[in-house]
Amino acid sequence: MDIKDVAAVVTGGGSGMGAETARQLAKGGARVAVLDLNGDNAEAVAKEIGGVAFQCDVSNEDSARTALEGAAKAQGIARILMNCAGIAPGARVVGKDGPHDLALFTKTITVNLIGTFNMLRLSAAAMSALEPVNDTGERGVIINTASVAAYEGQIGQAAYSASKGGVVGMTLPAARELARFGIRVVTIAPGLIGTPMLLNMPQEVQDSLIATTLFPKRLGRPDEFSSLALHVIDNAMINGETIRLDGAVRLAPK
Ligand code: NAP
Repeated sequence: MDIKDVAAVVTGGGSGMGAETARQLAKGGARVAVLDLNGDNAEAVAKEIGGVAFQCDVSNEDSARTALEGAAKAQGIARILMNCAGIAPGARVVGKDGPHDLALFTKTITVNLIGTFNMLRLSAAAMSALEPVNDTGERGVIINTASVAAYEGQIGQAAYSASKGGVVGMTLPAARELARFGIRVVTIAPGLIGTPMLLNMPQEVQDSLIATTLFPKRLGRPDEFSSLALHVIDNAMINGETIRLDGAVRLAPK
């Protein structure tokens, strides 16, 4: 799908991969709404790219609805949803202080999985009422962000891996269901990308993670994520699939 003059919503757009994707979408001529829990960061990115910003908690029904309605009012209903918002807390199932905090497990699932689904369902409902953009009946694209931890989560990642595994799991059924509206659903599962989420980890943790990457032996860059996202939007045959973007990293147990 051509992104020129198309409205797009990017969650987690105030930082990291979401921010870079928002920049690349705007560069390609899309009208971008930047949504983030951190409203100041969303504002800063929107200002930089000539888009609009909304403070939004993707896991909250009212907050998500209000932000999407505001974005649609400002720029038209989005044909592109980039679900990049996420959190990555670490905790052992049984740690030094006892069992995993259940509230932390719930929060991780709530933001990463339920938040992704919340945005997907609301965006798809709005998109389905739009006219197709071409004679194949294409109306829009939804791209989710999982993680390689969906497949080989490390010790301390039970909650994060479960949340991202859920995102991988819903990709095909959502694509199957939304095909009748001409809406594709694709998930990207990044490996280790140099964003605040990873760069805030201790250097020795980063080094040990990079050591398990096959090639290239470095962190991925946010622009490598955004260039894949833009290709997925452009290439209508990519659908119902989770694509690893990881330099063939296979995470070790710890
Ligand atoms: P990031 O720089 O931390 O960006 C994530 C953004 O999401 C932050 O601005 C964060 O705001 C926002 N956010 C958190 N909870 C939210 C909520 N409830 N509603 C709306 N926004 C929320 O991290 P990133 O690396 O770009 O991560 C993007 C996605 O990639 C995430 O889903 C992450 O799990 C996934 N991922 C990252 C890596 C990696 O190596 N970096 C690898 C695999 C997958 P706050 O700063 O206020 O929390």
